[in-house]
Amino acid sequence: MKRWETGGGHVIHQLMGGVGNVYALRHGEDMLLVDTGRIYGWKTLFSRIEGLDRKVRPKALVLTHSHFDHAENAARLKMFYQLKLIVHRSERHYLAAGDSPLPAGAILPTRWIMRLGGRLAGPLFRYTGVPADIAVDERLDLRPLGFDAQILHTPGHTRGSMSVIVEDRVALVGDTLFGVLPGSVLPPYADDIPAMVASWRRLLETPCERFLPGHGREITRALLEKRYAHYARRI
Ligand SMILES: [Zn+2]
Repeated sequence: MKRWETGGGHVIHQLMGGVGNVYALRHGEDMLLVDTGRIYGWKTLFSRIEGLDRKVRPKALVLTHSHFDHAENAARLKMFYQLKLIVHRSERHYLAAGDSPLPAGAILPTRWIMRLGGRLAGPLFRYTGVPADIAVDERLDLRPLGFDAQILHTPGHTRGSMSVIVEDRVALVGDTLFGVLPGSVLPPYADDIPAMVASWRRLLETPCERFLPGHGREITRALLEKRYAHYARRI
């Protein structure tokens, strides 16, 4: 799995890839997790967390949003590590209920998928709910937890989508950006595309050079600038 060094002492480890990315942010003896992946990846996820350093336990879990593929292991991680669970205020109740609303399609094929099958598939996407410990509004400084990092509200994919900005260099962006198709950053699902494009601008207002999405590969600043210019003209 990949790792990134930010230059100021933080290391970001990709713990899970493939269907969904899970990241661990480490700084000295402190570790926090970003997203959790699917329930069937639990054993792998757990062994990779333990494999990083048995003495260092994650003290917080940031959920970039409450969709099942990002939050399914949240209850287990909380039970096992007693970590602080951080989510946007507008998605607290979804996380507690384990039942986030299905997103709208952002492109024609996914619009049809959601129209035809979204309602039927809804029950499959429920997960074990868990109460959050910290609710984020517009921003949260993570220095009190030991990290030179902050959380920014970057809505659009969902109302409460958030990104973690590390040392103003690397951003962990959840599904605000999608890294699966070469040359594209648009996620296939989004509740509010204009809000999401405004969030891309918000990410570009930081000096970050690298953007690590919830799915797929690292996105460069140059690609995000290009795609932002393209969509900002259209909306
Ligand atoms: Zn999502």
